[in-house]
Amino acid sequence: MTHPAQPKASHYINGEYVEDTSGAEIPVIYPATGEVIATLHAATPAIVDQALDAAKNAQKEWAAMSGTERGRVLRRAADIMRERNHDLSVLETYDTGKPYQETSEVDATSGADALEYFGGLAGSLTGEHIPLAGGDFAYTIREALGVCVGIGAWNYPTQIACWKGAPALACGNTMVFKPSESTPLCALKVAEIMVEAGAPKGVYNVVQGYGEVGAKLVTDPRVAKVSLTGSVPTGKKVYAAAAAEMKHVTMELGGKSPLIIFDDADLENAVSGAILANFYSTGQVCSNGTRVFVQKGIKEAFLARLKERLDAGIKMGDPMDPEVNFGPMVNENQLNIVKKYVALGQEEGARLVTGGGYPEKDGFWVEPVVFADVQDDMTIAREEIFGPVMSVLDFDTEEEVLARANATEFGLAAGVFTADLTRGHRIAAGFEAGTCYINTYNLAPVEAPFGGSKASGVGRENSKLAINHYSEMKMVYVSMNDVEAPF
Ligand code: NAD
Repeated sequence: MTHPAQPKASHYINGEYVEDTSGAEIPVIYPATGEVIATLHAATPAIVDQALDAAKNAQKEWAAMSGTERGRVLRRAADIMRERNHDLSVLETYDTGKPYQETSEVDATSGADALEYFGGLAGSLTGEHIPLAGGDFAYTIREALGVCVGIGAWNYPTQIACWKGAPALACGNTMVFKPSESTPLCALKVAEIMVEAGAPKGVYNVVQGYGEVGAKLVTDPRVAKVSLTGSVPTGKKVYAAAAAEMKHVTMELGGKSPLIIFDDADLENAVSGAILANFYSTGQVCSNGTRVFVQKGIKEAFLARLKERLDAGIKMGDPMDPEVNFGPMVNENQLNIVKKYVALGQEEGARLVTGGGYPEKDGFWVEPVVFADVQDDMTIAREEIFGPVMSVLDFDTEEEVLARANATEFGLAAGVFTADLTRGHRIAAGFEAGTCYINTYNLAPVEAPFGGSKASGVGRENSKLAINHYSEMKMVYVSMNDVEAPF
């Protein structure tokens, strides 16, 4: 019998499901059991062509609608997503293995938030009037870029499809979205819902594929902008390919973010922050604060309480069970990466405080891991693991810890827990990161910008700032005077 997760076809183009079985097979594996629940096919060159043509053909008409009309479509899509939260969350759990307890709270709902927020903004996107000398003036026209390509990672397939789609469409662009080959299911539902909400055909399309399909999309002359969520190495390739054609980019990449906990911090809140910064989505969150710097005075109390809370609180099991709060890794490859780093941490002399075991059952399961006595030069403190592995490092002074926190090529996120108000702001000002937290961690409301600096990215998603990354300003100079020329 066909599994309920199997979509009608692999791609969604011009308002319809489309299949071409000559594309490479993409097996969809449920991470909790390891079983193949669906089979899709990567886009062939003909499918890529079809999707880009559809997006190109739809763009002018979509941009010619008023912002309010476009916004209405997005807000309707948000309502539909909320009404179907249960089904969409079940699908997200099949796609990623994340527990339903989590997906029902943060995936379709955060996608819907983006659709609602940018839907609300769409009608108020304007240029400006600029008065000049002698009665002359200029005005600016905010224009759509054209066809935008979105390329997703596998940790938040619904959210990523919406975080890119919502601002792109609000500005009058159309989109071709390529989900990660590990989680190809959810974006198809987003595309279906857009059309149901009234988006003209071709405005939001989804094509499947491995990296090569992404690469093909990035270099196509019909494409004006590329927004990637992925790793730093992929980001460098995609950015370079886009730059060769002078295309706009948004790059949401990886990190190795610091979380600093001072002696004066509220212990319970600091432990909660460290848990949120490392173990949500089984550690597969780009902004995770995986280098937890704990001041020496609070260190042992912090480690003891952290272990206590993990031992008592983690509930692994069937991700569809609403009591379960810790799921498997997304795939075997990612599980093997975690295993490699956990072994390396032990070899390099870090102290294993908890975890390090691998439940013997089908699927890609790992216990959450905490290492203490981690040194800055250990591999686990330098490289992104993208799994539930927390490194705890000691520190003495504010100056020392800020320098160590910033000593990384990454700059996605950073956090500090302290009761000292001025110190909190001082540290936030000193962080070399795009997304910073004081006395909390990993919140990403749509109203606030999200993104990285240094190697972690270019541009911002969410908030009014995202509008600037999906539109450009045309300036029109209007003379009210005779034209003076030198000869
Ligand atoms: P990845 O870089 O392997 O793949 C990301 C996407 O890029 C996939 O869809 C893949 O098919 C595609 N791709 C690969 N090569 C390509 C190429 N040459 N041209 C075009 N597309 C190509 O990343 P992943 O393993 O799917 O995701 C994990 C990474 O994503 C981690 O580094 C994580 O930190 C990062 N991430 C960042 C954010 C953020 O917002 N900053 C959010 C989630 C994940």
